[in-house]
Amino acid sequence: MSYLLKLLGLFVLMRLSSSQACPSDSDLNADVIIIGAGMAGISAAERLQEGGINNILILEGSEKIGGRVCSVEMGGVTISKGCAWIQGVDKTQPDLNPLWKIAHRYSDLRGLYLDYDSLTNYDSLGNQPDEAQFRNQEFYAALNVTDIIAKQLSESGGCANVNFRSGLSQGGWTPESDIDDWIEWFNSDYYAGEEPENLSLCLHENNPTYTAFVSGADRTGSDYFVTDPNGYESIIEGMANDAKLMSNQTRVVFNAEVTAVDTSRGDCVCVTANLNGVTNYCAKYAISTVSVGVLQQESIQFIPELLTPKKEVI
Ligand SMILES: Cc1cc2nc3c(=O)[nH]c(=O)nc-3n(C[C@H](O)[C@H](O)[C@H](O)COP(=O)(O)OP(=O)(O)OC[C@H]3O[C@@H](n4cnc5c(N)ncnc54)[C@H](O)[C@@H]3O)c2cc1C
Repeated sequence: MSYLLKLLGLFVLMRLSSSQACPSDSDLNADVIIIGAGMAGISAAERLQEGGINNILILEGSEKIGGRVCSVEMGGVTISKGCAWIQGVDKTQPDLNPLWKIAHRYSDLRGLYLDYDSLTNYDSLGNQPDEAQFRNQEFYAALNVTDIIAKQLSESGGCANVNFRSGLSQGGWTPESDIDDWIEWFNSDYYAGEEPENLSLCLHENNPTYTAFVSGADRTGSDYFVTDPNGYESIIEGMANDAKLMSNQTRVVFNAEVTAVDTSRGDCVCVTANLNGVTNYCAKYAISTVSVGVLQQESIQFIPELLTPKKEVI
């Protein structure tokens, strides 16, 4: 009996010691920890500072600010490896797009509006196909029909499970040649990263990136292609400098790959990062800005586990 009691006591002790308490407020590493120094992380820091919260610690897994907004030098030219366009810009009133305002707050970000009418098409042998073979107008007519169907479905709440292919078919479009495939790819897959079979008809037709920041009747925004020698990331660097990220109170720790987020201790969040070994940082709050892809890889352990609805979305 006494052996069993001792065993029970040991078990209770182990349970108590595995759930550590929060450090006192003065021992916290920051008020807020932000995971990731991409556009979302730096924007979050900027907004917190605007709200008077300055004691911020940003943990960034790589060695630079910017995340998926990054570029490389090739032959003396700056080439974007990730983000390259500001989409949905109204040429007459570009300031309607909030990204435009951010982009031009710190510099006159150089770029040009893409002119899709000036495209030249080549086949796989390098020859220019006869323009008469291009059924662009038929594709655009089908697009108009998908637009009408999408509106009807939205109004009746019947959007779920209707894909973009179904809308195109109802609009009379079925690709029959390599050139048809190319027209379809250029107008859909290229933007969406998916084939029409895997795209929602309603969401495809109501892409707010192109319509939300545009005035006028047709509400179709233009694409501004960034060619600035300082790269698209100069926007984020500008924001970071403006937010005085390198000040005493707010700082970025680079090469700090976060592996765990622990909210089980009580009134704090403790974040574990690999940085020349394992380091723990605790704060009152933490904001994660890592991509869905990183979350899908489960490279960050959440303690306790994320709730099922969040896991389902991821
Ligand atoms: C090839 C490509 C082209 C694109 N083109 C465009 C475009 O033309 N126009 C447009 O508007 N958008 C474009 N995008 C999308 C745009 O780049 C992203 O939406 C945007 O940059 C996302 O910013 P974010 O801060 O949310 O995420 P990210 O930029 O991914 O920032 C997350 C940060 O978290 C860090 N991180 C990840 N895991 C950890 C970890 N475990 N610990 C610590 N830090 C971690 C990453 O290093 C990164 O710095 C493109 C994206 C790609 C990949």
